[in-house]
Amino acid sequence: STGSLGGLNNSESGGVVDAKNLRVKLVLLGDSGVGKSCIVLRFVRGQFDPTSKVTIGASFLSQTIALQDSTTVKFEIWDTAGQERYAALAPLYYRGAAIAFIVYDITSPETFNKAQYWVKELQKHGSPDIVMALVGNKADLHEKREDGIEYAEKNGMFFIETSAKTADNINQLFEEIAKRLPRPPSSST
Ligand code: GDP
Repeated sequence: STGSLGGLNNSESGGVVDAKNLRVKLVLLGDSGVGKSCIVLRFVRGQFDPTSKVTIGASFLSQTIALQDSTTVKFEIWDTAGQERYAALAPLYYRGAAIAFIVYDITSPETFNKAQYWVKELQKHGSPDIVMALVGNKADLHEKREDGIEYAEKNGMFFIETSAKTADNINQLFEEIAKRLPRPPSSST
């Protein structure tokens, strides 16, 4: 229903109801502390609150956006809830995911290395048509760097640097990845 369109840049589309409505599972992977929860909270609630982590935990948050072609995309966003510590649980976590954000902290080379580990995991065990974004978060802390671009291109991933703190590129991250989703055939009515 259009009632759930709240929040994001929907002024142009005005809540069109007869467009294709996609519903996708989105998972975030990356080291603890890179800002995964903060990215989700910035996107869904429009705020930066590093202390509210516990409110996500067990289940998912959802948010719907409208694209310019009037498609709506409902993201069901799963947070790791600390599962990055237990690599063996990861396949359960990302099963059925259409989108994965692999997040690192641009100030921490260690987290960038770990991001590459998660990409390989997804390439091995994820859905073959999963759409991946490599996300360099905490872009407010440093001059923008290009560390991730080359790696992302080699692996067929969308690349973006974000700041959950300043909101820089957060909406763009979700919009750009939504545009890259495989679309169901349009002749199915
Ligand atoms: P998670 O473990 O990956 O979910 O990371 P959190 O979302 O809990 O974030 C870890 C800490 O990083 C938070 O306490 C925030 O203070 C900080 N943080 C998250 N995003 C940003 C950001 O974009 N910029 C800055 N400067 N700090 C951030």
